[in-house]
Amino acid sequence: MAGDASAQAVGVHRDTRLRARFAFVRRGGCGIIVANFPTMKIPERKRLRRERLRTAPFPPEWKEVITRNLSIFARLPTNDQAELLGHVQVFLKEKRFEGCAGLELTDEIRVTIAAQACLLLLHRETDYYPELTTILVYPSTYIVDEDRYVGGDIWEQGPDNRLGHTGRRMGSLVLAWDEVKHGAASPADGQNLVVHEFAHQLDFEDASSDGAPALATRAEYFTWARVMRREFDALREAEETGTPSVLDTYGATNPPEFFAVATEAFFERPRALRAKNRQLYDQLATFFRQNPIAYSGEPKRPGA
Ligand SMILES: [Zn+2]
Repeated sequence: MAGDASAQAVGVHRDTRLRARFAFVRRGGCGIIVANFPTMKIPERKRLRRERLRTAPFPPEWKEVITRNLSIFARLPTNDQAELLGHVQVFLKEKRFEGCAGLELTDEIRVTIAAQACLLLLHRETDYYPELTTILVYPSTYIVDEDRYVGGDIWEQGPDNRLGHTGRRMGSLVLAWDEVKHGAASPADGQNLVVHEFAHQLDFEDASSDGAPALATRAEYFTWARVMRREFDALREAEETGTPSVLDTYGATNPPEFFAVATEAFFERPRALRAKNRQLYDQLATFFRQNPIAYSGEPKRPGA
């Protein structure tokens, strides 16, 4: 996430370990291709329980929230709408929500977050963000006081304004509710906090947090690494030269942030992304098994 000072602070992937991995990838090694090809072994009982949840009647008041808050919902194909609502039922049953800084949780908050998070699950076999247990929701930007890696041997200390973040071993994901609601209502500005943070969760589903989600085969990891490395390098160059890009230059921070930012662009500005970064678009379309151009709120013509 980027665009203002607080948005620049989103994300927790600023540690030396990830920088080291990035350096390895940049040297042309295969550091990004280290996943252990996870197979989705979901116990039968859990699979059946989820199937029952997906097919249970959807509460009309929840659907009213989604229709009102998630502007793309009405444009989704009917089958996708039904699939999304089914995923929301499972998501809300399995994930715990906590209100922070005095925020009183409501169904509107839980459902609006769940619906955006579950957009990333359509058309794929999913284990519903298995690394995630709890979603913490603040009313607005919140302040974190911790050491932050800047670059080289430099760390900085002090308060950091954030809209959201998550981490591999956190088991939790933090969101600012006002930004969540803004993201759901603004489907084509290229930024969506929920999509960004849950893309990080997808990244956590294989052995490493390296900007690659769980893929089925070594060949898929090689293809992913080849495309992403080139696109990542191009974004870093665009950032250094001030060249406009469809992708937010916050994605040039490191490969995990690149995947999160690219996922935001894929869902929010798919037409522009396909026009300018065709191989990246195709790679993401293959992984997500979606073509957001068909339903996104992005204008057909730039500037329209
Ligand atoms: Zn991030």
